[in-house]
Amino acid sequence: MVIGSEILKGVTLDTNSNWLARKLTNLGFEVVRILVVPDSIEDISWGLRALLELSSLIVTTGGLGFTEDDITAEAIASSLGLKLDKNEEAFNMIKARYGDEAYKYVKAAFIPEKARPLPNEVGVSPGFLLEFQGRLVIALPGVPAEMREMFERYVEPLLQKVTGRVSVKASIVTGHMVEAEVDGYIRDLRRLSDVYIKTHAERPVKVTIVAYGNSAEDACNRLNEVLGEISKRLRVVHVEKTGTCK
Ligand code: ATP
Repeated sequence: MVIGSEILKGVTLDTNSNWLARKLTNLGFEVVRILVVPDSIEDISWGLRALLELSSLIVTTGGLGFTEDDITAEAIASSLGLKLDKNEEAFNMIKARYGDEAYKYVKAAFIPEKARPLPNEVGVSPGFLLEFQGRLVIALPGVPAEMREMFERYVEPLLQKVTGRVSVKASIVTGHMVEAEVDGYIRDLRRLSDVYIKTHAERPVKVTIVAYGNSAEDACNRLNEVLGEISKRLRVVHVEKTGTCK
């Protein structure tokens, strides 16, 4: 869930959700919703409740700062019926960066009770991670550089352990000019499990494949099987694989 009125007003382009969707997909998650809500307690609470019905993992970005309009922690706490507490570990993180000036940022140390703070190595506000009724809520800052650093350093290693799933991707440039034609040749492959196939309406047509598995080897085998099948059906000009697949 992306939190920020500036996004809904068209002032800021939301790049966080795209970056996170890619990361989460690569980690083997199926991202089921991307929601953008304004900086309002009611809207954030509504969004969180709706998403908790759908998913066991919710990641929020934005609204974590120390100013009055940063209300994400408060909204998450109140919608889950939790207290908002000054978290000493979070305050120590701020002190470690800002020393005697840390008191100016004390608001950013107030996070829901039982939440675990995540250090912010780039900016002021710690993020946090909260387990709630078998679900995981992760709150990250809005500033992209802060959000990405925190995710890669603290969240990604943890989620890797949770899923035990790996995904790998291949991007294909075909020798075809018409997307419908390409789709017609490979449509049935979309029914394969643990594989996602997307055709792109470009000239020449491009195809992206994401394959999932319980290990990199498993995911790569699946990816290579699909690539083999696609190569029999389409004119393939170029293939680029991400990750460790050969
Ligand atoms: P901080 O803890 O540093 O104050 P914050 O969590 O309060 O961060 P916001 O106040 O919500 O972050 O956003 C700060 C800035 O980050 C925005 O003005 C905008 O430039 C950028 N930003 C916020 N959300 C996004 C987003 N979804 N995509 C891209 N940029 C964003």
